[in-house]
Amino acid sequence: MSAEFIFPPPPCPSVAVAQDARRFPVRRIFCIALNYAAHAREMGKEPAKDAGAEPPVFFAKPADAVVESGATIPYPTLTKDLHHEIELVVALGRGGADIPVAEALDCVFGYAAGVDLTRRDLQTAARNAGRPWDMSKGFDHSAPIGAIRPVAEIGHPTHGRIALAVNGVLRQAGDLGDLIWSVPEIIAALSRNVALAPGDLIFTGTPSGVGPLIPGDRVDGEVERVGSVAVSIGK
Ligand code: MN
Repeated sequence: MSAEFIFPPPPCPSVAVAQDARRFPVRRIFCIALNYAAHAREMGKEPAKDAGAEPPVFFAKPADAVVESGATIPYPTLTKDLHHEIELVVALGRGGADIPVAEALDCVFGYAAGVDLTRRDLQTAARNAGRPWDMSKGFDHSAPIGAIRPVAEIGHPTHGRIALAVNGVLRQAGDLGDLIWSVPEIIAALSRNVALAPGDLIFTGTPSGVGPLIPGDRVDGEVERVGSVAVSIGK
C-alpha cells in the first residue's frame, strides 16, 4: 500500500546535466571548509599542514538551496555582507560508508561549478560565539550550481583554473591543484561521518578572493574543463 501524505510531498530539487534532458536529483548538499591555503589565511586561519594532519571540517546546506545557473535570486535577509565562494562541486552517482580513498572516485557521477553563498557577518558572529554556522550557510537560494558534466565526458579534473568575476571584474582565481584535501580524500572523510548516497553534492572549498555582493550584481564563475555558473542578485 503506497503512503498517503497529509499534503503533497515537496518536489525533488535537481540540477541540470550538460547535453542531457534528464536532471540530477539532489539528496543532500555537503560542503568542506577552508580547503585552499590562501583562503584559509584570508579568513584568519592557519591552513592545515597537510591532508593527513587533521580531519576536514564539513557543513551542509538543505537540498532545496540549489539554484539553476542563470537565475536571479533575492538578496538574502538578515545580512549586510553576502559573500561569493566559487567552488568545484562533486555530484555522486553512488554512495556508501567508510569508502576507501582508492575507491572514492568510483562514486562520482560528474562535476559542476557552484557558488557557496555565505552570510559572512552571520558566520563570523557565529564563529566568534562558538555557535553553529547553519543559518550563515544554509539559507534559501544559497547554492547556485551550473550544469553537471559527467565523468564519462571529462574524467576527474585535478588541475585547472577556478575563477569568479562580479560585473565582469575578476574577484577569485585559483587552481584545483591547490586543494588541501583532494576529491577522493573528501569523499572518504565525509563517508566516515555519514553514509553517502546517489544524489549527494559536495562543494569542495573556495580559493582566495571571497568578497561582498550587493543588489544588482552579476556573478560569473567557471571551473576549467568543468563548466560555468552564473547568478544575479536581485534589486
Ligand atoms: Mn565554501
